[in-house]
Amino acid sequence: MIKQLDLGRQYEQIKTEILAKFAEIAESQYFILGPEVSKFEDEMASYIGVKHAIGCSSGTDALIMALMALEIGPGHEVITTPFTFFATAGAISRVGATPVFVDIEPNFYNLDPQKIEAAITPKTRAIIPVHLYGQCANWAAIKTIAETHRLAVIEDACQAIGAKWQGQQAGTLGNIGTFSFFPSKNLGGFGDAGLVTTNDDALAKTLHKIRVHGSERRYYHDIMGGNFRIDALQAAFLRIKLRYLESWHEGRNKVAAAYTEFFETKLNEVVKTPKIAPFNDRHVFHQYVIEVPRRDDLRQYLADRQISSEIYYPVPLHLQNCYEGLGYKVGDLPVSENAANSILALPIYPELTHVEIDEITTAILSFYQS
Ligand SMILES: *Cc1c(COP(=O)(O)O)cnc(C)c1O
Repeated sequence: MIKQLDLGRQYEQIKTEILAKFAEIAESQYFILGPEVSKFEDEMASYIGVKHAIGCSSGTDALIMALMALEIGPGHEVITTPFTFFATAGAISRVGATPVFVDIEPNFYNLDPQKIEAAITPKTRAIIPVHLYGQCANWAAIKTIAETHRLAVIEDACQAIGAKWQGQQAGTLGNIGTFSFFPSKNLGGFGDAGLVTTNDDALAKTLHKIRVHGSERRYYHDIMGGNFRIDALQAAFLRIKLRYLESWHEGRNKVAAAYTEFFETKLNEVVKTPKIAPFNDRHVFHQYVIEVPRRDDLRQYLADRQISSEIYYPVPLHLQNCYEGLGYKVGDLPVSENAANSILALPIYPELTHVEIDEITTAILSFYQS
């Protein structure tokens, strides 16, 4: 059985450190925020190359905090991609604003800057580009549009920790960056956790308040916030894992290179391999996603041979039931809809072996030869 993701293998590498850290935190009885979280935030800020890094409860909450800090709410529109995990748009709705979906470009699956301006109205307040699968959206083009129309940009960097756009890391580009440490992300906790980043001192101050019910001084509430805190245990575990992150990114890149080489030599006409945009310096391959004909049959064929694969994401957000009220219909955002019907994510993690990669690629080859 080849799993889509096998975190057990990663755990084997760090088990001793994690268990020792667990004992230390348990003894300290310091469970929420505190010294581990402060150290974690300093290390994350330095890794990402950003002035402020604020730990929080999840990637979803990071997005909600960012929208709250920018005072986005009822009557406002936020432009985003329909080809992402639900949380990107869900956060916009949760603060009472309306998501406006703009189609993706077909090669990198990120927001198509050429289609953004047509979607801007007097109600538009922000753009949320998602750095999908581990590479940055077209930042130069998005930045120009945001500046021209005075819109804020919140980066959804939940899949892109460590990804680089022209030397700068994801999460340093827009007004606010948001990260998730959901266990399956490139840097994953032992439960839910997230991070908000910004180079803006005033926004950082607001975000710190929002994390604890809008208060700076306990029991005095200046603005509306929530419980968006991160646990000391998560911060401590993430600090351990952060030290391995660069080597894990390298491992993922090697797996991706091996897949791409195989498909380009053996199945060039059939499999569309993931491309790295010319403006990006580093893809971190959160997912390795191919586009193929007869996708569902291939997926079943692989499953019959004990090889997992996934579809990220099968239903673009403009066609989700909960967004029926927004009035989108099939055909409105064709690039996203086509991608949803033909993409397939293959297993990718640093510990995936050559033998397993061979097994996966050979099975795909035999499917298309039969
Ligand atoms: C994982 C993810 C989120 C949400 O993160 P959680 O920590 O699960 O709340 C948001 N956006 C994208 C693109 C993601 O991949």
